[in-house]
Amino acid sequence: PPYQPDPARYDGRMPYRRCGRSGLDLPAISLGLWQNFGGADVFETGRAILRRAFDRGVTHFDLANNYGPPYGSAEENFGRVMAHDFRAHRDELLISTKAGWDMWPGPYGGIGGSKKYLIASCDQSLKRMGLDYVDIFYSHRVDPDTPLEETMGALAQIHAQGKALYVGISSYSPELTRQAAAILAAHKVPLLIHQPSYSMLNRWIEGGLLETLADLGTGCIAFSPLAQGMLTNKYLGGVPADARASRGGSLSQGLLTEENLARVRALGEIAQARGQSLAQMAIAWVLRDPRVTSALIGAPTVAQLDDSLDALNRLDFSDDELARIDAHAAE
Ligand code: NDP
Repeated sequence: PPYQPDPARYDGRMPYRRCGRSGLDLPAISLGLWQNFGGADVFETGRAILRRAFDRGVTHFDLANNYGPPYGSAEENFGRVMAHDFRAHRDELLISTKAGWDMWPGPYGGIGGSKKYLIASCDQSLKRMGLDYVDIFYSHRVDPDTPLEETMGALAQIHAQGKALYVGISSYSPELTRQAAAILAAHKVPLLIHQPSYSMLNRWIEGGLLETLADLGTGCIAFSPLAQGMLTNKYLGGVPADARASRGGSLSQGLLTEENLARVRALGEIAQARGQSLAQMAIAWVLRDPRVTSALIGAPTVAQLDDSLDALNRLDFSDDELARIDAHAAE
């Protein structure tokens, strides 16, 4: 049967938070398609996750040119779901993509920030997803070998051509963020959003980036708030065969030290006392700071997505809880 989204999807369970000093609201929890949505994954599982997310008020889906594997396949699969399920709802959706990491062979599609790469990659992404425009186009990484003027100039051109309504950057330092915003401002393009990693176990953005973003009026969407699954109870009894740490790479088993697992165990007890799963507390924790617009999660199943979205049932923290979390998880 054709997909009919839940009519109650905007009934108030999902908070929407203003992205910096823009006019745009993001859902408190957004869904990323880095893993679990590629050609190597089961299409209907990914489709069910996307539908469920939208049914629960997740209006923002985050992609990149090379999400898969293979590269490009997450965008292709998203395009199929767009065509079959979401077409009538395009104006309810924020869809983002990026370029900056490895993509196609040769000197112009590899890791970098050249105008040549970004412009071509944006066009490819639009084709794969079957879209006229994305809502946000990102420079996925700093390229120290390309002048920032060139990379930001490419974003400004994509913006001017209407191929992206807004632009963002990912994993830029506070200093380069300021420079990027200034270059974009000279093109009359606001820097809508920054996408950094952030979790209880990874607090680098507290060392200046959050202040910089507040100052610039740029929003912040925090990726990997579960530290790729480490901030859950799944690794406490060993490494499950279907978990990311055994699936080839991005979460190194080297991180699963006794010391880290002891921290995770202690955090799990705090979560339990709050009546939450550790995953839920980890998501609520990144959202405790109003400068963080959205928590950008991944999910391999509808059940894990549902569990994570139930973080919304308890977002508040007492000072005592925050202090106890810091005692186990401050760097
Ligand atoms: P998370 O930290 O949310 O990790 C997701 C993983 O955690 C899942 O694959 C699953 O692991 C586990 N998990 C999720 N929900 C639960 C739950 N409720 N209970 C137990 N375990 C759970 O984020 P990701 O690392 O997946 O990143 C999210 C998004 O951020 C990406 O899709 C991408 O859009 C973006 N991103 C951007 C980057 C950038 O450079 N800009 C880099 C990395 C990510 P398992 O599969 O093992 O079960």
